[in-house]
Amino acid sequence: MEIFGDGGARLEFSAYDAGAGELAHIVEAGAMQRALWQVLATQANVVLRSPAACASLAREGKRWRLALADGSAVTASLVVGADGRDSWVRGEAGIGAKLEPYGQSGVVANFATERAHEATACQWFREDGILAYLPLPGNRISIVWSAPQALADELVALAPAALAERVAAAGHGRLGRLEPITPAAAFPLAVMEVERLAVDGLALAGDAAHAVHPLAGQGVNLGFGDARVLAALVRGREIFRAPGDATVMRRYERARREDILAMRLVTHGLQRLFSLPGRVPAAVRNLGLNFTDGLGVVKNLLIRQALG
Ligand SMILES: Cc1cc2nc3c(=O)[nH]c(=O)nc-3n(C[C@H](O)[C@H](O)[C@H](O)COP(=O)(O)OP(=O)(O)OC[C@H]3O[C@@H](n4cnc5c(N)ncnc54)[C@H](O)[C@@H]3O)c2cc1C
Repeated sequence: MEIFGDGGARLEFSAYDAGAGELAHIVEAGAMQRALWQVLATQANVVLRSPAACASLAREGKRWRLALADGSAVTASLVVGADGRDSWVRGEAGIGAKLEPYGQSGVVANFATERAHEATACQWFREDGILAYLPLPGNRISIVWSAPQALADELVALAPAALAERVAAAGHGRLGRLEPITPAAAFPLAVMEVERLAVDGLALAGDAAHAVHPLAGQGVNLGFGDARVLAALVRGREIFRAPGDATVMRRYERARREDILAMRLVTHGLQRLFSLPGRVPAAVRNLGLNFTDGLGVVKNLLIRQALG
């Protein structure tokens, strides 16, 4: 993984140097969703209700009642709201959320590359946003360009070939010529904090519970962390306790708060640091990148932390 500052600084993370098999896995969201769907569909103890549209969610005694638009209803002692940043479940449960838009959109697209990417991810902190090249199998990459809104609008409006040229130039021609594989799409970026991660009988997970800037590529990992902790707590609940028992929910909240806060602070802080205009902030952040690059121990610590 190579990271470039906006003033010539460079920071490299190497799996080999860290004695790790790899720094990260990059999985296309669609492939992951298909795999998860297949697993769900083959579980004997899972009833899938799809397609379905939710109509209302209300607490009835010690259970939640989810009414569907087709007139049917489901009741449960535990509801998990994993329905994304604009979570409907969160709204129905009356859990407040503070959303702070970055005034940027993440522009994403896939390209075929002229040169091999050698399984290396690159990220450039630029004056006009943050550009990441993420290696995919073969000579293909996925990009995320977190760009100020006006530039994001301009990028998605470009013809595919013109966008490819622009992305290749922004990446200093590192992978040679780029050829578009998918059209570009843009997603508005924001940081979001929720009042509560859980209330009696209801837990939020994934982006419904937290949204962070994608510069660290950790959004999905945070959600997987939620799922892992919640599953362990529900499985290990004391006998006679319902899965959504208040004690279990409080433990979930306590167990996840720190990880979520740390990721929000790191991504928000870096985003702010690299958005500051002027020569002094630029000198400081580039010095910081170069300095970190020279400190093997610190780099290994960062890698260990990122590998969990
Ligand atoms: C530009 C960009 C780049 C990113 N890059 C990375 C990256 O490289 N690595 C990484 O880890 N993360 C990345 N992220 C973050 C990642 O996309 C999110 O963290 C992740 O998608 C969150 O997953 P989720 O399942 O919680 O929510 P979502 O992906 O938002 O999924 C929510 C699901 O709930 C469904 N839903 C919503 N409302 C309802 C309803 N009322 N009824 C039924 N279904 C409903 C939606 O249809 C959707 O399928 C990126 C984000 C952006 C914007």
